[in-house]
Amino acid sequence: MGEILTTNIKENLDYVNDRIQQTLKRAGRSDTVELIAVTKTIDIERILEAIDAGVTDIGENKVQELTEKISAMGDITNYHMIGHLQTNKVKYIINDVHLIHSLDRLSLAKEINKRGGAVNRIIDCLVQVNISGEESKYGIDKSEALEFIEKVMNFKNIRIKGLMTIAPFTDDESVIRESFRGLSKLRDEIISKNYAELDMKYLSMGMTNDFEIAIEEGANMVRVGTGIFGKRVY
Ligand SMILES: *Cc1c(COP(=O)(O)O)cnc(C)c1O
Repeated sequence: MGEILTTNIKENLDYVNDRIQQTLKRAGRSDTVELIAVTKTIDIERILEAIDAGVTDIGENKVQELTEKISAMGDITNYHMIGHLQTNKVKYIINDVHLIHSLDRLSLAKEINKRGGAVNRIIDCLVQVNISGEESKYGIDKSEALEFIEKVMNFKNIRIKGLMTIAPFTDDESVIRESFRGLSKLRDEIISKNYAELDMKYLSMGMTNDFEIAIEEGANMVRVGTGIFGKRVY
């Protein structure tokens, strides 16, 4: 964001929310953006402060940290799994996860479907797409996304709710924008198929450094950590 962050969570949150509203206005959009506060490495006390300040949804990228926070805080917030999800750890989050942003392979879809069935839950998932084609990133290849979705949309205990991506790691704004635009176009293509099984509501893209670009390109769910809590200490 370029600006110096304060240590005050409420101030930071208000600032992020302001920027979201301004960007929506600038982009001529009349819809809304859901803010996921990314709480990896952040302790419970500070998360509670964020919830007090208005946060309704938090995101974690590791199962262990997610389950610890679920145990500590219960149902006072929605829990999003935003990081790479190992198949053998699905069982630990299946009862409580609100939305999985990182569905990126068939073996994972099968496990989520099976575990969801066992606890009688339909699990909302976003398909994570690797738009830029960077080798090191998780996410299904853009060219394989439609075929993947056409398979998974028939799974009884998974509901696909949209797409997620992480922009390539670069300072080049045009490259970042291009990847967000690519995800947005892909969503439009999938919507145009008119599959009754699909509800492609969400486009989860944009983090602290690029959420405004993401909103300009159609994001309606952004995942912001540093912008709310300050720099993470690992
Ligand atoms: C850490 C993380 C974020 C938030 O990153 P910030 O730069 O701190 O806003 C968003 N999405 C994912 C998948 C992450 O792992």
